Amino acid sequence: MSLQIREERVAIYPGSFDPVTLGHIDIIERAAKQFDRLVVAVLNNLSKNPLFSVEERADLLRQVTSHLPNVEIDSFRDLLANYVRQKNAHVIVRGIRTVTDFEYELQIATINSKLNSDAETIFMMTNPKYSYLSSSVVKEIGHFDGDLTDFVTPEVERAIRLKFSESGGGALK
Ligand code: ADP
Repeated sequence: MSLQIREERVAIYPGSFDPVTLGHIDIIERAAKQFDRLVVAVLNNLSKNPLFSVEERADLLRQVTSHLPNVEIDSFRDLLANYVRQKNAHVIVRGIRTVTDFEYELQIATINSKLNSDAETIFMMTNPKYSYLSSSVVKEIGHFDGDLTDFVTPEVERAIRLKFSESGGGALK
C-alpha cells in the first residue's frame, strides 16, 4: 500500500479588517471549512488612514476567531501575490457583497494571477444578512455612539467605544 502525502491546502483571506465585522467572521467561518488552514492577513496599507493599528486589528481578529482551530492571524505589507507565495498558499479568498465589489475584485484577481500564476482567487458570496455591512459603516455608527450589536461582536464593540472615547469622538478618518 502506498502512502500518499497530500499537500496541506492553505488559503489566505486578506483585508483591512478595520475593524472586523460579522460579515468578515461569516466569510472566515465558511472559508475555514473549505481548507486545512486559513490565514487571515491584515493588510498594512500605507495609503489608507486606519482607525485601528495593524496590531489592534490582528488582536481583535484573534479574539473573534479563537473558536476556529485552523484559522491563523497574520499581517503583511508586501504585494499580496508575493505574500501568498511566501505562505505556501495557492488560494486567495475574497468576499463579494455587490456588483461594485465584483468589478473591483475581478481587476485585483486578474492582476494577482498575472503576478502569481499559482494563486487562485475564490469569491465567496456574502450572507445576505450582511450584504450592507462594511467596516466604514461600523466606524460611522461608532463615531455617533450608535448601537453596534447587529454588526460586530461585543469585544469589537468595546474596542470601538474605547477608541472613540479616547479620541473624544474625533478618531473617524
Ligand atoms: P479591503 O480594504 O481589502 O476591501 P475589507 O476589510 O474591507 O478589506 O474587506 C476584506 C474582504 O472582506 C473583502 O473581500 C471584502 O469584500 C469582504 N467583506 C467585507 N465586508 C463583507 C461582508 N459584509 N460580507 C462579505 N464579505 C465582506
